[in-house]
Order: sequence, then structure tokens, then C-alpha cells
Amino acid sequence: MPRIYCPTPLTAGEHLTLPAGAARHVQVLRLQPGDPLSLFNGEGGEFECSVTQMGRSTVQVQIGQHHAIEREASRLVHLAICMPANERMDWLVEKATELGVASIQPLMSERSVLRLSGERAEKKVLHWHSVAVAACEQCGGNRVPEVHPVMTLTQWLQGWQARAAHTCLVLSLAPGVQPLQRVAGDASSLTLLLGPEGGLAADEEARAVAQGCTPVSLGPRVLRAETAALAALAALVL
Ligand code: SAH
Repeated sequence: MPRIYCPTPLTAGEHLTLPAGAARHVQVLRLQPGDPLSLFNGEGGEFECSVTQMGRSTVQVQIGQHHAIEREASRLVHLAICMPANERMDWLVEKATELGVASIQPLMSERSVLRLSGERAEKKVLHWHSVAVAACEQCGGNRVPEVHPVMTLTQWLQGWQARAAHTCLVLSLAPGVQPLQRVAGDASSLTLLLGPEGGLAADEEARAVAQGCTPVSLGPRVLRAETAALAALAALVL
């Protein structure tokens, strides 16, 4: 059954004219009146629905039973990552969403290749949100991970102090660093900070550590940032 994200209030028993994005999706799938579909709005669970009317640009559905079903990861893992360039960030958002990431904070650091600001940054964040939505539709996630506005690592670390009670791990290639799983223990909520293609500069990592992030290792291989993010996420949630 098609699963479609519909970011509006949903009430069992009501008729609903789908918002534009969801309507377009139904049209692309060429659903017909009577066809079943599942709608979720990110507030939890999903609704059994059926198409009642297909117009040129409007689609009406009958909202049926709510199922309070969740397919979320066993713990909340937030990614704060210095964005890899090209399509690698799209790929990361898709895969991290499938694995059940709680949120994604795109960052820029000293060695970041990808620099985004203003309207370009806003457009990219909207694009990544739509990538996360599509991944949730596909994988069964009923909560779309938030993709936060792009900021610099320095800005993020400044805000970080306020959240000092939370576990933050910085993925580090420095020698002698403890393995991820040993440090993560059974923390129910944590944030992973990762550098860009060129890695974090030594002083950036030192600042992160000074503000309470614990360095952790994924072993002796130098992984690409997006591989490191997904390997760490998988190790923590699966
Ligand atoms: N060119 C850089 C590599 C950066 S890899 C260099 O040689 O230093 C990009 C990011 O992925 C790193 O900043 C780190 O956060 C993470 N990473 C990659 N491999 C890792 C590993 N084995 N352990 C921990 N973090 C790793």
C-alpha cells in the first residue's frame, strides 16, 4: 500500500483534500477512487485511507482508522555533520533516515568544500527534508527526522554548551581514541559530530572536546564522512 506523508492534522472518519505535495504524489502513482493508501503526518502512527475523488489537481481521501504504529530506532541518535559535497549529502540523508536518525544538523567547518548560505542554504535544507520524507515513505518511518538550518561548526558549538547534559561524541581519527561502542554505552540519546572530507582541524576538535564532546573511533580505516556517519548510526541503533 502506498505510504504518503501528509503534513496536516488528520482525524479518523473525516474527508480531506490533500495538500499539494501529497496530491501530486497520489497522481504520480495514478491511484483511482477506491484505492487504499496510508497517510502519516509525523505526529505519530499512520492512518488507513482510501481515495474518494481524483480531480485535475485535487485529490480527496476518506481518512480511516489510526494505527499507533512506530518503527523508530531503539535510541535517539542525532547527526551533526560537516556536509560532504555533491550528492553525498543527499545519499547520507536518505540512508540515515532509513536507519532511523533522530535529526540532522548540516555544518560547515574550516575544511568544508561545500559552502552554503542565504537562499541557497534554505533551498538545500528544504531539498534534504524532501529526501527524508521520501525515505520515510519508503521505509515505514512515521516520524520525519528534522533537518536543521545550515550553520557553522563554531555557531553550533556555541549553542552546544546549553545542551551540556546530553552525550555528544566526536568521531575522531586521533591516535589512542576509545571505540565508539565502549563510550556510547547504553545512552538513550546522543549526538555524533563528524568532520568534512578533509577532516576537522585539530583546533576544531579540541574546541569540541573542551565543550564536552568525547572523541570516539570507528577503527583504523579512514572512512569517508558519510560512511563514518552511517556506520556509527548503524552500530548504535541496530
Ligand atoms: N582527510 C581526512 C579524513 C576525514 S574523514 C584525514 O585524513 O584526516 C571525515 C570524517 O569522518 C572525520 O572527520 C571523522 O569525523 C570521520 N571518520 C572517518 N573515519 C573515521 C574513523 N576510523 N574513526 C572515527 N571517525 C572517522
